[in-house]
Amino acid sequence: MSSKKDRKAQRQEAAIREQRRRWDETAAASPLSRHQLDSLLDYLAEQIVANGHDDTLRYTQQWLGTNGLPVEETLEFLVRHRFRSDFEVALNADPNALFGPTDDRIARMPIPEEALEALIEWVDQKVQLNGCDHSSRFARQWLTDNGYPLAPTEFALLAQGGGCDCEIVLNLESANIYPTFNREIT
Ligand SMILES: [Zn+2]
Repeated sequence: MSSKKDRKAQRQEAAIREQRRRWDETAAASPLSRHQLDSLLDYLAEQIVANGHDDTLRYTQQWLGTNGLPVEETLEFLVRHRFRSDFEVALNADPNALFGPTDDRIARMPIPEEALEALIEWVDQKVQLNGCDHSSRFARQWLTDNGYPLAPTEFALLAQGGGCDCEIVLNLESANIYPTFNREIT
């Protein structure tokens, strides 16, 4: 029996295969491993929060040089994927998007799911009491108080549409970051 539903399922499977093929292709073409790209994004977040940024890839270039990684090849790879500045790399060069998700992440997020949910709940209460001043001051306070990496988490929140405290409450969805299959079993 080849119903309409079966054909739809077949098309979805084909789309998933095509996506996997693209992830594998990108991973094969990337001069950096997933782990190296993750480390670069951590470094860029720290640099940009501490020192600001311009429209160049100079922090990226520095980091590649310091770590003995191929500079020209990596910059070419990043520009080919439309990451033209340190800020664009820090925000959007998510290894999960480029190379595919892992067992514990769909999108980059340095803190575990329980921590993110606790953060959102706390920030929500603070924003209801004090309003949002268009900064992430409450999120930053919570991350600092709980000993989580500040700059990389701020960038990961921003990448999910959380550019300030009220946007973090509004836009952050665990389901877009952490795989749900383990929860669905129970
Ligand atoms: Zn806000």
